[in-house]
Amino acid sequence: MAIVYFDGEFVDESAARIPLSTHALNYGTAAFEGLRSYAEGARSFVFRPREHYERLLRNAEMLEMKVSQTAAEFTELTSELLRRNRCREDRYIRPLIYKNSTRIGAGLPAGETVAILTQEMPRGPIPRPPARATWSKWRRTPAAACPAGAKITGLYVNSSMARADAIARGYDQPIMLTMEGKVAEGYGANLFAVFGNHVVTPALEADILPGITRDALLRDFRSHPGLTVSEAMIAPERLLEADEVFLCGTGMEILPIASIEGHPVGSGVCGPLTSKAINWYRELITGKSAHHHDWIVAVDCA
Ligand code: PMP
Repeated sequence: MAIVYFDGEFVDESAARIPLSTHALNYGTAAFEGLRSYAEGARSFVFRPREHYERLLRNAEMLEMKVSQTAAEFTELTSELLRRNRCREDRYIRPLIYKNSTRIGAGLPAGETVAILTQEMPRGPIPRPPARATWSKWRRTPAAACPAGAKITGLYVNSSMARADAIARGYDQPIMLTMEGKVAEGYGANLFAVFGNHVVTPALEADILPGITRDALLRDFRSHPGLTVSEAMIAPERLLEADEVFLCGTGMEILPIASIEGHPVGSGVCGPLTSKAINWYRELITGKSAHHHDWIVAVDCA
């Protein structure tokens, strides 16, 4: 049985129950995160937990939550959760801080519960088969309506409907646009495009979530002398002229895009820079890279 962290204790998942009237269930008032751990033998590697938990705490603050744990304490809880589950396979880790008020009525009532659960999630294959993308019929929630760059559960109705719409129309992935019609991101992943030696990703002003994978890739691309890198507003017509397009995020890792709305991206296969990025990222997240040791926390799950 899976062990979860729930309201200060490690318990069997079946014991973690919430009342139907829970505020977060009714109004989407929970801050959450998505981390991964990669198993290599008896050790599991967690990628950038500090950055994930700092983002979680910032998002919790937007919901006026008072959280006693620090990012370092959350990281330690995560390691302990993996140890208690004797994790010998790749995992997704889902921390949640939710409004636990049971009084019906919108607002930001005081009272929150911290939970962390984990599910098996195998790493993506290498080489990674490229995906067929479509322009989403749903625009990304604008920052003027809700903090678009936050991982707050209520906002993910937008992502969920975008993904469902793309799949219902026979595509693998939606690409979401801003209200102004610029390229934003995938339903749960950031987007990069390659034009020759130039790499571009939508700017934070494109109502995107500031991804931790996006940040890692930006740093890596900026360290390559042969590449120029920018964060910019991208018109959809321009994206169709790219040599390579890929999505990136903790859950998705790095996913090449073969086509958008049936229009091939480059030659319609995983391009050379995307392929390099996939290999670089895999080394990094499995603790094999000689760089960025400070991004990795190793957990002994023997
Ligand atoms: N955009 C959205 C909307 C997401 O939900 C995610 C996943 N957290 C990302 C981008 C990628 O972020 P990260 O690289 O931090 O996982």
